Order: sequence, then structure tokens, then C-alpha cells
Amino acid sequence: MNHSSTNVESRTVTVPDQALLEALVDHSELLIVVLDLEGRVVNFNHACEMLTGFSAAEIVGRPIWTTLIPGVEVAAAQNATQRLSTEGLPSTFVSHWLTSDGQQRLLHWRNTTLLDPDGKPQRILGTGIDITYQEQAEAKRQHGAQQLRKLIDTLPGLVARLDRDFHVRFINVNSRHWFGLDTNAEMGKHIRDVIGDGGFNVLRPGFAQALAGSDATYHGPVPYARGGTRFIHGTCMPSHDERGKIDGIYISALDITEQQALRQQLADEMRRGRTILDHAIDGTIIIDERGIIQHFNPAAERIFGYEAAAVLGHNVKLLMPEPVQSDHDDYIRRYLDTGEGRIIGSGRDVTGRHRDGSRIDLHLSIASFTENDETLFVGFTSDITARKAAERRSRDHLRELAHLDRRAGMNELTTGLAHELSQPLTAIRATAEAFLARLEKGQVPPESLSKALQQISLQAARAGEIIHSVRSFLRKDAGHGADAHDPNTMINTVLKLLSHEIETTGVKVVRNLNDNIGHCMAHRVQIEQVLFNLIHNAVEAMANTEAERVLEIESRFDADTTSCCITVTDSGPGIADGHFERLFDPFFTTRPQGLGQGLSICRSIVEQHGGTLTAANDPERGARFTLMLPSFQEGKDHDSEER
Ligand code: ADP
Repeated sequence: MNHSSTNVESRTVTVPDQALLEALVDHSELLIVVLDLEGRVVNFNHACEMLTGFSAAEIVGRPIWTTLIPGVEVAAAQNATQRLSTEGLPSTFVSHWLTSDGQQRLLHWRNTTLLDPDGKPQRILGTGIDITYQEQAEAKRQHGAQQLRKLIDTLPGLVARLDRDFHVRFINVNSRHWFGLDTNAEMGKHIRDVIGDGGFNVLRPGFAQALAGSDATYHGPVPYARGGTRFIHGTCMPSHDERGKIDGIYISALDITEQQALRQQLADEMRRGRTILDHAIDGTIIIDERGIIQHFNPAAERIFGYEAAAVLGHNVKLLMPEPVQSDHDDYIRRYLDTGEGRIIGSGRDVTGRHRDGSRIDLHLSIASFTENDETLFVGFTSDITARKAAERRSRDHLRELAHLDRRAGMNELTTGLAHELSQPLTAIRATAEAFLARLEKGQVPPESLSKALQQISLQAARAGEIIHSVRSFLRKDAGHGADAHDPNTMINTVLKLLSHEIETTGVKVVRNLNDNIGHCMAHRVQIEQVLFNLIHNAVEAMANTEAERVLEIESRFDADTTSCCITVTDSGPGIADGHFERLFDPFFTTRPQGLGQGLSICRSIVEQHGGTLTAANDPERGARFTLMLPSFQEGKDHDSEER
């Protein structure tokens, strides 16, 4: 209820001509009511009838509060009437009227006491306007303003409004908390006194820009009135009065100090990580679950010959030769399904594919990590082409040496034999020729024939002894320095030595190594040399095969012969029919660069160990070489048995 009563200037009115008065009253859009001094309605104009739905006839002659004033306002209405009729003062008055259909209208009255020519109060004139809608609009406006304020108070940020002189006209609850201020204490204060000199100096240009008519954004550190510095993201906007003139500024800001610190920390960490990756000597490649390259550092660019931009977003397969290229998606899938990986967590030597298509020897180790629920893989690769080439050279050199050594040995042996044998042979030949000459001349007495033949037989026996001594020397040599060895270990050593050839030829190795094979008595290096030759031959034999290249190595104990049995089977073309007999002959080769020494030396080494080396063709695949070595049995003197 909104009652207000203000004193206004009092006035004496002379009653005008009755007819004119009635015409004015009836045609006015104003509500016009005339009461007598007891509050009875004397006049109720047309506008009043329209508003209330009551006719003048229903109202005139009865006190105004009988029908039109709601019960709660009756006393106030009577009081006002009383004052008007005794004091004769004009007044403004707000009251409700009831309409004939039970509604209420809010009316604003301006009342005047009409005096008679003697100056005595005679009538009370009220002119009113219907302010029901204005009141509703005002109530709505106030409600809206209240809601807006509540909304602003729930905002996490700081909101304020300043006037043109930077005095605070509004500030939300959060700002008060933030500045540690009492409720409303800062209203009307200069903003400098709220945010401090430091903050004001930093933000002032933004305030000025908003006052000049454009929005201003600030993102950065601001000295904090309560000490230290806070990181603020804020906006200033001009505020306008009803006529559109700038009358101040709105400020909204967020304190993002914590977020900023986190962001900075994250950026630092990322930069640090990236710096490490970028400067790593190893090529570093990060891929996602689909094998798509996410990161490719400068060292990787150098190794593979691709710029990062050219491979990012592509499948990492592009950096691999066949057959790995085709299988790689399966490797990843298997790892994701089972958690088991061949390289992940450990490292190994692999072959990569350079941009120009050439193969690169690499050492690769992979680690996996999770980011945003996705598994990522980081691969560290180092180019080991130089190391591999050096290894290859030294192996070739060793092989060469082995051949040379053998050949030198054979040469020595041959020279020695020739030298040793030349004497008895010369003697045999001389005796035989002399005897022949005499035989042709028919001068051969029987005693001399028998003597000559004895001579020849003696020399031949001596030659035989020489040969025998050489053989026994060789046998002794074979036994000397031999030791008990695990054949499987030797096989694995040799496979490792040949891993490069195996990989670059795209050969798949199948190992069926039986743990119960036991040990064999062997010169480890020599038997490894034999295995080396057999496996190397097999890989070479498959080099031109179109079909799948499979090298199968089997080891087992052969109870019948108490031997360690090793077979090397390939999927190459096999051995041509006519070649079987000559395969182990020195100098037999079908390769343009071949020496034809390998198998012959292998067999002699194996035989010196008391074993056998044989060749056959696998019914379904290529060639199969079988190596049998006597099994080592505890307590048996190997040397004495050989002798
Ligand atoms: P080389 O190394 O000079 O070829 P080897 O004694 O190692 O001498 O081999 C002799 C020959 O035996 C080879 O030239 C080749 O014809 C044949 N040979 C050896 N191993 C195999 C194999 N796994 N498959 C087919 N042929 C083979």
C-alpha cells in the first residue's frame, strides 16, 4: 500500500457557474469526484463510471467509503476527508477503488477543498488518475532489478558499476568477498580506495577507454589490495543513461591466478618435454592406437629423411619395410587386446624404411603411456647402420679368416705332405723306373726283382706312415680344447650373429629347440662356424624365392646314436639332383661369388668331432642339412675314446 501525503500550496476557489462545472466534469478524462464535508458523494463523473462500472446514481448521496474504498483503506480515507474538511488543505493521496466486478484499481488523487465566498470549506474536489498499470510496471521493474542483482551475486566473478568520476555505484557480493570489504561500505567510494593505487594505475587506461565509448579488455597481473599480485581477466564497458549518454562504466572480471599458474606449469612441462624430445639424439616418434604419427622429432627426421610435417597424421607403417609393414596394425591390436608386446618394454634391432626406399638398420625400444584414456606409444630409434656395417665387416672378415686359415692349413698340410711324401715317392719311382729299364732289356735276375719290389713296398709303407701320422695329428687336434656345450645356446648365438641378414632378407625363423638335447663335446667356435655356414647358405638360397621365406631350426636328442641332432631346413629351391655327391667337395659351388669351401670345411670339422653332416631335400620345401654330434656323457673320457 502506497500512501503519501504532501503539503502543497493552499488555494481559495470560487464556485463557478453550475452548468459550466457540470459540462467540464462530465467531459473530463480525469476521474472527478466531489464530496460534501461528511464524505458523501455529490458528483461522480463519467470517467469514474467507466472505471468502476458503477453508475453515478448508485454512488451519489452515499459516503465514498461505503462502496468504493476497500476495507483496509477506509480509515485512511475518512481521515483524509476529515482533514480536508477542517483544515481545508489540498493534498495528494493514493488509494485503491473497488470496481463493480470486484477488482481493485490504484488511483492517484489530487484533492482540494472548495470554499464558499466566506472562506468556509464547502465541498471536497478530488481529481484522480488510474496508476494501476504504472504500479504493476514499477513492481515488475523492481522485481527484475532484484533478480538481476541476485544473479550477479551468484556469478563467480567480480561485477561493479562506476560513475563517470570512478565512484562505486554498484558492486556484487563476490567483489566484496574478494576485497574483504563490509557490505555496502564501499558504495560511493572512489574505486582507487577499493582496489588500491597499484590496481587503479594498471586498470585506469581500460576505465578511460570505456568512458570514451569502447569496450576494453585486460588480461594480466594486477597488484592486489590485500597484498601480492593476482592474474585478472576483465572487461570494461560504457554504461548509458536513458538518453544514451555515457554515465559510467561496467566492470566484470575473473581472478584466474590459479588457472594461470596451472596453465603456466603445464606449458612449462610441455615445453620441457618437447625440448627433451626435440634434442634427443634418438629419433622419437609418438603414435596413437591406430598407428597414426603424433610426434616426430628432428632426430627422426634425420634418420628417415622425412620432415615431421610430411608424416604427422600418417600411419607409422610408412617407416617400415615389408613384411613388418603389413603386420604392424595387428601388432598394435594384439598389444591392446592382450597387453603383450614383442618390443614394448624392451628393445631390439629392426629394419626401417628410409624415404628413398632404402633399408635402415635401427635399434628400437618402445614404451606405452596413457593420455585422455587413450594408449599412446613412444618409440625411440637409433640408427645403427654404421654399427651393423662394422659388425658385418668383422663377421665377413672372420669368415674370410676361417676360410684362409683352413686353406692355409690345407696348404701347409699339402706342402708338408708333398715334402714328406716326395722322398718315398721319388724312391719308389726311381726304383720302379730302373727296374722297368732293366726288364725291357731282359736283364732281370729273379733276386734283384724281389729286392726291387721289397724296396718299393718299404717306401710305400713309409708313405703310409706319413699319412697315418698326419691323420692322427689331426685327430689329436680335434680332441684338444673341446668342452661340453649346449647346442641350443650355440644355435641362438649364431642366429643373433646372422640376425641382420635374416631380417633384411625378410626371413621368418622358426625355432624348435628341444631342452632335453643335453650337451655335446665341441670346439664351440668351430661348431658355431659350421652352424653359421649352414644358416648363411640357407638364407642365401632363399634370397630369390618368391614364396614365404622360412628358416626352421630343430634340435633334439637322438637316442639311437646318442647324438645331438640339429637340422637346418629352408624354403629355398633345394639341391639339384646331380649336386648331392659333390656338395661337400672342396671348390664345388654354384654361386658366382662362391668359394665352394664352406660345406667341405664344415664336414671336416664335424667329422673331426666324431660327428656327421649330411644334406637332403625336404619333401615339401627346400634343402635340409642334418648335423649329428656325439652327445656328452658325464664320466666318459672323450679324448681317450677318440684316440
Ligand atoms: P659356397 O659358399 O661357395 O657356395 P658352400 O660349400 O657353402 O660353397 O656350398 C656349396 C654349394 O652347395 C652352393 O654353391 C650351393 O649350390 C649348394 N648349397 C649349399 N647350401 C644350400 C642350400 N641351403 N640350398 C641349396 N643349395 C645349397
